[in-house]
Order: sequence, then structure tokens, then C-alpha cells
Amino acid sequence: MGGGGPCGACKFLRRKCVKGCVFAPYFEADDRGTAEFEAVHRVFGARNAAKLLLRTPANRRLDAVVSMCYEAVSRVKDPVYGCVAQVFNLQQQVDNLQAELAYVQARISIMKHRPSCQSSKNLSSVPSLDFSNEDCASLDEALFKDVDDLEMLARELFNKYLPGSKI
Ligand SMILES: [Zn+2]
Repeated sequence: MGGGGPCGACKFLRRKCVKGCVFAPYFEADDRGTAEFEAVHRVFGARNAAKLLLRTPANRRLDAVVSMCYEAVSRVKDPVYGCVAQVFNLQQQVDNLQAELAYVQARISIMKHRPSCQSSKNLSSVPSLDFSNEDCASLDEALFKDVDDLEMLARELFNKYLPGSKI
């Protein structure tokens, strides 16, 4: 990082930081830099991390370091899942949001085609959803409740009609 002192990686490895050190542009000699390098070293090994960076075009190395640090720090925190825990978590959120979106779209479609549920007999014409009058009543009730209740109803309906969508 200039200034003559070792970079965070060399500081952690207690070695001299030579000119052209592959880690120097990315690991500062502060607490954060050394802590991130420690995680990278524990998970990937310093030699492997250096090899990986040397194989990476210079203009992509910062991205490589950022992703390596992210993976390494996650793995140290969660030895079982590492950053995959976050990936699963986000996938679950995507599933939930897609299911809620599908529910809202289905609901909008029902509202457009059936301004009043009382006279409804063709609710089954809504694609892939077959709401009974009972469900229709609960949809009406939901109109007067807050967003949390609507979300709960969405989950109930999707568990009932689309059990594969895991919400
Ligand atoms: Zn260095």
C-alpha cells in the first residue's frame, strides 16, 4: 500500500512485503485488512490465494479479492454452510416474494374479472387457481385488514393451492 510498511497479508504472515506483492493493493495493514486476510488464509491458504490472483487478469483482481474475502469470512463464521447459507436464505426470499407476487397478480385478476364475489360462479376461470366461494369470502375480508394479514392470507392460499411453492 505504499508508505513502506507491510500490507495486511504480509503483516499477518509476518514476512517482508516485497515490491510487487500481489496482496498489497487489496489488503491494508489495518485491523480489517489483516482480519480479512486471516480468513482467506484459513480457508484458501495464502499460497492458493496468491496463485488464484496471479491467474486472474489484473483488472479483475479486486473483484476476486472481494469475493474471496466474502466467502472466507462467511466460512469462518459458519463452518457448515459458509456463504451458501446466505445464498439459500436469499433463494428462500425470492421464492416467498414470487409466491406473494403470483398471489397478488391472481387477486388482481380476480378483482378485474369479478367486481363482486357474491355473484361469482366462474372463479375457476382464473388460470391455475380454483378459488371456492369460501376463499372468495376470505379474500373480501382481507380487503379490510392490514398488509400483514394479507400476507398471511397469501401464505395460507399458496400453501393450499400451490404446496410446491414453499412459502
Ligand atoms: Zn505484502
